Amino acid sequence: MPTSFIGEEVAMGEQTYDAPVIIAGGGPVGSSLAIDLALRGVGSIVIERRERGKPFLLRTNMTNVRSMEHFRRWGIADALRANDPVPDDVRRDVSFVTRLNGELILNLPNSYEWKEPLPFAAELAEWAPNEGIEKTMWERVAQLPEIDYRNVSEAETFVQDEDGVTLTVTGPDGEYQVRGQFLVITDGSRGHLRRDVLNVRLEGNPNLAPSTSWHFRSTQLKDVWANGAGPVVSMVYIYNEDRGSDLITAQGPDTWQYFAGPVPDGVDGDDWEQVRELIVKAVGQEIDLEPLSGGAFSQRSLLAPRFDFGRVALAGDAAHLVSPQGGFGMNSGIGDSADLGWKLAALVDGWGGPGLLPSYSIDRREAVRFIQLGSEANHALGAIELVRPGIEAPGAEGAAVREAVKNDILDKKMVQFKRMGGQLGYRYSLSPIIWRDGTEEPPPTFADYTPSAAPGNRAPHRWLTDGTSLYDHFGLGFTLLNFGGLDAAALVDRAAERGIPLDEFIPSEEDIPGLIEQYVRNAALVRSDHHVVWRGDELPAEIDRLLDIVTGHASWSAR
Ligand SMILES: Cc1cc2nc3c(=O)[nH]c(=O)nc-3n(C[C@H](O)[C@H](O)[C@H](O)COP(=O)(O)OP(=O)(O)OC[C@H]3O[C@@H](n4cnc5c(N)ncnc54)[C@H](O)[C@@H]3O)c2cc1C
Repeated sequence: MPTSFIGEEVAMGEQTYDAPVIIAGGGPVGSSLAIDLALRGVGSIVIERRERGKPFLLRTNMTNVRSMEHFRRWGIADALRANDPVPDDVRRDVSFVTRLNGELILNLPNSYEWKEPLPFAAELAEWAPNEGIEKTMWERVAQLPEIDYRNVSEAETFVQDEDGVTLTVTGPDGEYQVRGQFLVITDGSRGHLRRDVLNVRLEGNPNLAPSTSWHFRSTQLKDVWANGAGPVVSMVYIYNEDRGSDLITAQGPDTWQYFAGPVPDGVDGDDWEQVRELIVKAVGQEIDLEPLSGGAFSQRSLLAPRFDFGRVALAGDAAHLVSPQGGFGMNSGIGDSADLGWKLAALVDGWGGPGLLPSYSIDRREAVRFIQLGSEANHALGAIELVRPGIEAPGAEGAAVREAVKNDILDKKMVQFKRMGGQLGYRYSLSPIIWRDGTEEPPPTFADYTPSAAPGNRAPHRWLTDGTSLYDHFGLGFTLLNFGGLDAAALVDRAAERGIPLDEFIPSEEDIPGLIEQYVRNAALVRSDHHVVWRGDELPAEIDRLLDIVTGHASWSAR
């Protein structure tokens, strides 16, 4: 088994590497991948152009339930809650108002966050702006000696050969090269490595809506709001005839994000003075407004034709862009890290087969396309259609219009909030490294999550009678969930002989009936990223074939 720590050159046969995995771009996706690898004992060098501790503002606001389940595995779910910069007196609701000093149309309490544990998930979503997310990741990175995170370093270009990839970097002391067995490109939507070095273009819709997003400070906004449409919440949609639709989100004490997409005709989203006028209209009156950063951008829905290119893989925004409607951009990239992490570790440690990286493309493209389609549908139900004549009219006339808008929101827009299909429902139904059991299932829907233990799905979750999550019992490799007294020795022993990490978990007697009901079989084999790869009442006769398929040494075929 190779030693895979960084800090000294790692010898692999004739080859030497600076680290097993090089990661170009240390945003949320590159950082989370480095953490996943480190927890498996696999070292990485992360090349990041930003200075140490300088997070991006105005990006992800919500780490969704599925991502938080991975954050829990990575030991950062509680830290993210602690690092949330939004003050407690800002309620985690979503509101719809005419203006901040105007009329409340609808308030949805705790729309992105729940207070009580969910039966079907190991974690709750967390509303915390990107600043808190990146801080949390970088604190974890600093705790893990397997990660060599290099700031103020520019990934310039790379070459790959049969045995590895060499990346040219410009650091504070000049140009140098790092060599790894694998390179993962996580340099975001504007990175040049995919486009200019790999020569790969994204496909899809490059401009769903020209938009603008600004981070600003205001000490008066909260008071104006609380005296008007109140309550002051983390996310408010503003609909009025004067302007159309706007979105304001809480970013920290007295700091806010203004978002408009599409921007009104003739408005330059890079021009603060023009955007300031839009904000004043959304608030309903003049207040103190200090711009911090921002500008124009395009909402896009784009996907790379594949994510694996030999020893090079794409992840996060470098591989796909998702309409922000519903908050799935970063969350999709976190899903990439979770899928890619164990596959790269398996290859580095020698038990993974040649099908693993191609399966990364197939698995994640299926998941991301599902998310993109749902986000595009959210986008199509944009708020502009919910702006109606008379929405601000006084008395019964205006109240009737607002009531109609409220009913339309409840009817059409709720899929964006607290609906779990998009977060938990994607499955790897096309994957060649899943042992199919013949179960025919209807396609997943973006609105509703229907738990299923059919291979390829996220393993149905359960809180066990001892208070732990079922997921807390999954190991770093495969976990055989044994509910029916199955003699698992043949599988466990053969996996050990082949160097494949595989543990057996036998739940307590009180938990077994419920689990059999959920899994509909006596046993299931689950990956560390929580996806079911096999289920059955008895082990298959061909244990080696099962192990070959789930480790990428063979592809599934119904024979
Ligand atoms: C205005 C805006 C609003 C958004 N709102 C949401 C939201 O509400 N919810 C949501 O889920 N997503 C949202 N997103 C998307 C989300 O921010 C991204 O999906 C997420 O940041 C992707 O993470 P990443 O790590 O792939 O890329 P990035 O976060 O872009 O990170 C890429 C990293 O690579 C570094 N880098 C780039 N090139 C190089 C190089 N050559 N050498 C070294 N380093 C390099 C960059 O400095 C950066 O740190 C939003 C995005 C934008 C722009």
